[in-house]
Amino acid sequence: MTDTLDIKITKTTESRLATTDFSNLVFGHTFADHMLVADYADGEWKNFEILPYGPLDLSPAISALHYGQAFFEGLKAYKHDDGRVTIFRPDKNAIRFNKSAERLSMTQLPEEMFTQSLAALVDVDRDWVPAKAGHSLYIRPIMFATDPYLGVVPSKTYKFVVLTGPVGPYFTKPVRIKFETHYTRAAEGGFGYAKAAGNYGGSMLPFKKAAEEGFDQLIWTDAKEHKYVEEMGAANVMFMLDGKLITPSTRDTILDGVTRDTVISLAKSWGMPVEERRISIAEVVEGARNGKLTDAFGAGTAATIAPIGAMHYEGEDFVLSDASTREFSKKVLSTLNDIRYGKTEDTFGWNY
Ligand code: PMP
Repeated sequence: MTDTLDIKITKTTESRLATTDFSNLVFGHTFADHMLVADYADGEWKNFEILPYGPLDLSPAISALHYGQAFFEGLKAYKHDDGRVTIFRPDKNAIRFNKSAERLSMTQLPEEMFTQSLAALVDVDRDWVPAKAGHSLYIRPIMFATDPYLGVVPSKTYKFVVLTGPVGPYFTKPVRIKFETHYTRAAEGGFGYAKAAGNYGGSMLPFKKAAEEGFDQLIWTDAKEHKYVEEMGAANVMFMLDGKLITPSTRDTILDGVTRDTVISLAKSWGMPVEERRISIAEVVEGARNGKLTDAFGAGTAATIAPIGAMHYEGEDFVLSDASTREFSKKVLSTLNDIRYGKTEDTFGWNY
C-alpha cells in the first residue's frame, strides 16, 4: 500500500445499531451509521470524510441529475468466525470503477483511494457486518458529476460517496426467467459494460413488465437480433452445458462481473472446461430439451449464485433440474462462502 489516505472521521452520537432488526433485512433498505464522501475539484480528490449517514446538500442543477454522469459499484464485506472482517476483491471493483468513469467522461479515482476509503468506512462500521450465514455488509460506492451547469459537457467537479448496509440473501428460491426479445439493455458501442446509473433506470420498465407476466427475472439478449444470451437482470449468466461451463464473453454490452470471474477461476482450478463465447438462446433451449443443460444460474454480488429454476421462450416453458441436486452451482456457492467467511484458506488472495 502507498500513502495512507487522510480521512477526517466524525462518528455519530446516535447509533442505530441497537434498534435495527437484523433478522429481517430487505436488500438496500438498511444503512449503517456512517458514509464516506470526497470531492474532486481543481484537478484533485480531496475532503475525504467519514460522517454520520444522512442527506447531502446539492444544487438542483448538477449535471448528474440532468445528463446521467453517475455510476456505482457493489461489493461486500464478510465477518469471519474469529471476528475478522474482509472485503471481497475490492481491487476488481476499483478497476471497474475507473472503466465506468472513463466511458462516462468522468474523472478517475486512484485505486488505492478507492480501496482505502472502503476499508476505512467498513472499519468504522464493522459492528454492522452481520455474523450470519448468507449475510454480509453490502458496500455501495458511487461517483457523480456536481457542476451546477446545464451544458451537455463533462463536469469538472465530482463527488465520491460510499454507503454500506447489512444484507441477507437476495433470492431465496430458484428464479423463473424469460428471454427478453423486445427490450434491450445495451448495444454495441454503448455503455453496458459500465455501471452507469442510466443502464439501471432503463431496465426498470422491462423488469416491471416481466414481473407482471409472472417472471422473477429476465435474460437480456443481443440488441440486433435478440438471439444471443447476454446477462440475467443485474447479474451475469452461466450455463453448464454438456459438461462445460459456458458464459457469454465480455464485450461492450456485458458487465465484467467479479462473481463471474470468480466462478470461472474456481471452475478452471477444478479442471473444468470453460468457454467464454457467444451463446444462442437456441443452444440453451436445446440443452434444456435434451437434458444436456445440467445447471444454469445468475452470478453477481447481490444475487451471489442464483439458480434458474425455469425458462420461458416463444410460448414454451422449460423446467430445469431441481436446484438442490445441481453439483456445480452448489459446489461453487459453498466454496465461495467458505472463502468469504474465512472457513478455508484464501488461496487466490481474494479477501482484503
Ligand atoms: N451484470 C450487471 C448488469 C450487474 O449490474 C452486475 C452487478 N454488479 C453484474 C453483472 C454482476 O457483477 P458482480 O459480480 O461484479 O457483482
